[in-house]
Amino acid sequence: MWNDRKPVSRDQPPASLPAGDGAAIKALAADIAQRRPVLFLDYDGTLTPIVIRPDAATLHPDMRVRVQRLAARCPVAVISGRDLEDVRTLVGLPGLIYAGSHGLDIDAPSGRALLGEPFRPALERAIARLQGELASVPGALVQPKRYAVTVHTREVEPGDKPIIHDIVREVLGREPELRYMAGKEVHELRPAFDWDKGKAIRHLLDTEGMSAHFPVFIGDDVTDEDGFRAVREIGLGIRVAEEPASTAARVTFPDIPSVGAFLDHLADALGRLSP
Ligand SMILES: [Mg+2]
Repeated sequence: MWNDRKPVSRDQPPASLPAGDGAAIKALAADIAQRRPVLFLDYDGTLTPIVIRPDAATLHPDMRVRVQRLAARCPVAVISGRDLEDVRTLVGLPGLIYAGSHGLDIDAPSGRALLGEPFRPALERAIARLQGELASVPGALVQPKRYAVTVHTREVEPGDKPIIHDIVREVLGREPELRYMAGKEVHELRPAFDWDKGKAIRHLLDTEGMSAHFPVFIGDDVTDEDGFRAVREIGLGIRVAEEPASTAARVTFPDIPSVGAFLDHLADALGRLSP
């Protein structure tokens, strides 16, 4: 069902888009509909607003309907830093491709790819050490994930924060298979594996028979830049951001409602092509 449209056209990628221009979003969607698209969607900050408590980032029912409508007309993948089952539960739609853990865990029609599995023993050791050593630091929260461990410091006294950093560094020093990623009030240890959302997108285009499709990736964060670069020459990156910034995405949408409008227009345009 995904290969029945006319051949993809990559000759004239859509131009940059003035922020908040509804007519331009509609025109962009109409153009992309002609190119046999596949949609790669980040979750937090792209389909839902960023919230303090990650478990409160539920998908608005209107957005769920939009994604569902679109997925009936072209392949749709959700690609997130969250654990796969977490993002799948939040989106709550069958028939999509899901990629969790920044693409280290993929569930697609061709099967499940657990690319982070070789790193589980190192992660489990790190999780146990962090839980033991940070138990005495008030407010420190260790969040085990499938292919990462995150230490949250938002609730920690400022004077204790350097201790946490030292402990995370010490644990990392024992586990050469892991690498360190800093975030806002967050320390994270992840597999030291050359893999990111961009590589996951390329992998899916190859393994799911979509290498002739026009990939569109929509994301909002620095980790999404790998995805924007991966599709830059063969598709289109769309960054969701209020402020302009240096980005590999060709188009910027100012907010999440613009994403919703784009998904609606794209589903409409695909429906007109193949009612
Ligand atoms: Mg995001």
